[in-house]
Amino acid sequence: MLLQSDTQLNQSSYYEASVLRDKVAEPLAADISADVVVVGAGFAGLSAAIELAQRGYQVVVLEAERICSGASGRNGGQAIIGYASGQEPFEKQLGKDAAQSAWKMSLEAIDLLDERIANYQIDCDRVHGYLYVAETARKARALEADVKDMEQSYGFGCDFVEGPQVSRYIQSPRYCAAAFERKSGHLHPLKYGLGLARAARSLGVQIFENSPVTALQRGKRLRAATAKGSVSAAWGILAGNCMLAEHGPEVAPEISSRIMPVGTYIIGTSPVDPALCERLIPGNASVCDNNFILDYFRFSADHRMLFGGRVSYSTRTPHNLQEVMSKRMAMVFPELRGVSVEYVWGGFVDISMNRAPDFGRLDSNLFYLQGFSGHGVALTGLAGRLVAETVAGQAERLDIFSRLQHRPFPGGPWLRTPSLVLGMAYHRLKDAL
Ligand SMILES: Cc1cc2nc3c(=O)[nH]c(=O)nc-3n(C[C@H](O)[C@H](O)[C@H](O)COP(=O)(O)OP(=O)(O)OC[C@H]3O[C@@H](n4cnc5c(N)ncnc54)[C@H](O)[C@@H]3O)c2cc1C
Repeated sequence: MLLQSDTQLNQSSYYEASVLRDKVAEPLAADISADVVVVGAGFAGLSAAIELAQRGYQVVVLEAERICSGASGRNGGQAIIGYASGQEPFEKQLGKDAAQSAWKMSLEAIDLLDERIANYQIDCDRVHGYLYVAETARKARALEADVKDMEQSYGFGCDFVEGPQVSRYIQSPRYCAAAFERKSGHLHPLKYGLGLARAARSLGVQIFENSPVTALQRGKRLRAATAKGSVSAAWGILAGNCMLAEHGPEVAPEISSRIMPVGTYIIGTSPVDPALCERLIPGNASVCDNNFILDYFRFSADHRMLFGGRVSYSTRTPHNLQEVMSKRMAMVFPELRGVSVEYVWGGFVDISMNRAPDFGRLDSNLFYLQGFSGHGVALTGLAGRLVAETVAGQAERLDIFSRLQHRPFPGGPWLRTPSLVLGMAYHRLKDAL
């Protein structure tokens, strides 16, 4: 009920318009068994399935809609190191050593993504290079402090520039400072996700589409039930993101209050002159500002500006989305004013209260991966690997994440959204000031 506007959000994604999907996979229509049942065929579920199949497990993935029809097939395509929360929750709650391990794992997430693209020959327009930009002197100081901290505490260097030097990376009147790093970057997320699904199938994973799991019987063997069938398995992995509460409210209600669905939106322009793209973002990096409610943007392989931002905490699609976002884009790039917008779409991000990922287990044989907080393109891959390691008997790395404390959003399903709206209004005011 909460996410009624979802279909509307997916109406005209540039990504859906630029891929040829395989024929829809048949829904589950029998009672079958497997070693592992995975709920959700987004990046996290598919990554877990690949890692498990590589270790010899028989895996079944049940997807409520189509493969990567959720956040994984609609996002900004920005594959980024680190965590939406930054390192603070790891440092404060778990100490320096665990924070170091978490940081290294976030770098591994990018390496894993690149390995998969290479090993499974996934043609997904991968580009290296990432630019963090600051709009005001105060934000510039904050960006510089972050860059210094990452260098001192984690040995990770970025190229920090200010004033006229910024134009080496971006031609925009809006930004007074920037930090560039080479490891992160961007890709076409739906091409990547469909490539992961092909890779999983090549390893023997069975994927059923249009098969929402509506009930999960727990115990020594789990039983995941859909409308016309069921999967009995020794292990289960819940990778349903925001939509788990929607498609299967009875499946794991104890984890749903720990994430909040927040709508975020993207516009895609018509193709622009490649020479203009090169002038506006020399080097073709992915860009993101350091506001709390951020703008994120990049050029696609066919030279469209994909400009994301504008959030909705009410789960309703904002009015005048195209107009508001076009104006925002023109403030960043005046030369794109008047370029026609061909696509407008959005999706829901699974925000946790402290923005740190929320991975863990509900029983000894039932795991969940959620709380990517808008930072999941690369991290979902690692999450899948960690859960597979744990199934195979190596829990140390997943346990770094499962030791993080997460608070539920206050007020239950009906009050969660209004309280978040208030919180975000405060942050929006801070950004404006
Ligand atoms: C508009 C937008 C822009 C974003 N931009 C970026 C970005 O630039 N960089 C970045 O790092 N992150 C970004 N993100 C976040 C990123 O996309 C997500 O963190 C990531 O895709 C989450 O993957 P997932 O597999 O956990 O979830 P999803 O991709 O949402 O997959 C979950 C799947 O589970 C299925 N499901 C749910 N319940 C059930 C059930 N009961 N039975 C069966 N199936 C079920 C759903 O249908 C869905 O397909 C963005 C997100 C959005 C929405």
